[in-house]
Amino acid sequence: MTDLPAPESSPGPALRPAARREHVLRAAVQQGLLHGERAVLAGFVDFDGVAATVASLHRAFPGPPRVLHAFAAKANSLVPVLAELERLGMGCEAATAGELARAVAAGFPPERIVFDSPAKTVAELRWALAAGVAVNADSFQELTRIAALLGDGPARSPIGVRVNPQLGGGTIDAMSTATRHSKFGIPLTDPGSREKLLAAYQDHPWLTRVHTHVGSQGCPLELIARGVAQAVAFADEVNRRLGRRQVTGIDIGGGLPVDFTGDEAGPGFGDYAAALRAHAPTLFDGGYGIVTEFGRSVLAKNGFTAAYVEYTKHAGGRPVAITHAGVQVATRTVFAPDSWPLRIEAHRPDGRAKDGPPVRQDVAGPACFAGDLLARDRALPELAPGDLVVLPDTGAYYFSTPFHYNSLPEPAVHGVRTGPGGEVSFEEIRPAQSPGELPLPVG
Ligand SMILES: *Cc1c(COP(=O)(O)O)cnc(C)c1O
Repeated sequence: MTDLPAPESSPGPALRPAARREHVLRAAVQQGLLHGERAVLAGFVDFDGVAATVASLHRAFPGPPRVLHAFAAKANSLVPVLAELERLGMGCEAATAGELARAVAAGFPPERIVFDSPAKTVAELRWALAAGVAVNADSFQELTRIAALLGDGPARSPIGVRVNPQLGGGTIDAMSTATRHSKFGIPLTDPGSREKLLAAYQDHPWLTRVHTHVGSQGCPLELIARGVAQAVAFADEVNRRLGRRQVTGIDIGGGLPVDFTGDEAGPGFGDYAAALRAHAPTLFDGGYGIVTEFGRSVLAKNGFTAAYVEYTKHAGGRPVAITHAGVQVATRTVFAPDSWPLRIEAHRPDGRAKDGPPVRQDVAGPACFAGDLLARDRALPELAPGDLVVLPDTGAYYFSTPFHYNSLPEPAVHGVRTGPGGEVSFEEIRPAQSPGELPLPVG
């Protein structure tokens, strides 16, 4: 632990986000977690922030009905992060067998795990059904498999079907799952599809849930809430047709968008819950348990990445800073910069925020292709060798999407907690992969 002088009036956790990042960065430099030779790049997850975000999620869905908030593991699949979310009372949504294994390793009990892969193998289904993990089927063929595995026996697992309300997409095609041709779920509006699905619920009394996930970043709240309303309307219809309350749970997926342009909170969980109450009132009438699967909105704002500037130069009259953070840690931003822009903050070598007149410059990564840029023509105080750059909002979908091109190693990720006097302590979430551990090419 490092004791930093307590900021004037407010202790660490109460600092504004940018001041808090600066505070943590200075402590990380002091404690050698960032070092110009030995630790040129690192990630940080603010566990105090995570606890506050999870508390706001629980407040937005106070229950009754019963609510399980299953964190979408793909957003940050590091086991110590998942374990922290488990301690905070969340569940875990796994989209692959690998994420299931991580959920189990993080200590989630089976009744708090949801398994959502669109490509579940027979072995994976057998494991999930035996363990009592909730399963959402993605297709009619998968339903047939599940029926065969269950035989005449009862289901230990809550089992649902992912429905696609086919409402259209948001602003990022790759993130929009409720489109007409989406690969996910069973379409609700294709000719004959809804009737066939109603018949499946009639034939399989173990089908007790309806699941939907309308999309992620780029989908407005309104679109997501309308998609959930379609799923709830379908569940209401099943129960009405069958004359019994067979569907007892609605899994509303995740998808609350995050504002990557600033530190002000975008729409919160409370705003989303209000939109759901407006569009799908029967969701809250007490007849359904609710499962949520938020990922980005739980973690994005609670993590940042920091890297040293190794060199600077000018090209075509514009400054370029070559840093140690590029495509290996900001894969989506580098390959799809218009969909995934990140803010960049300039800091001095000791971690203090750098000020100075804004200068338009490129901020590049270390990889060997010209497009390895964190930002083009971005106005920032002019970076110099030895400075640090900070990428805020990288707590979700950055540490879990490493890219191994150029044999660039995965950096360390550190958990951060701040004491009442502003003292910062770090715990290792993931050790740095050292280049020497990578298999060296022969010849
Ligand atoms: C990706 C995904 C989520 C999480 O989405 P976020 O935008 O991170 O909240 C939830 N459920 C399913 C099925 C997903 O594919």
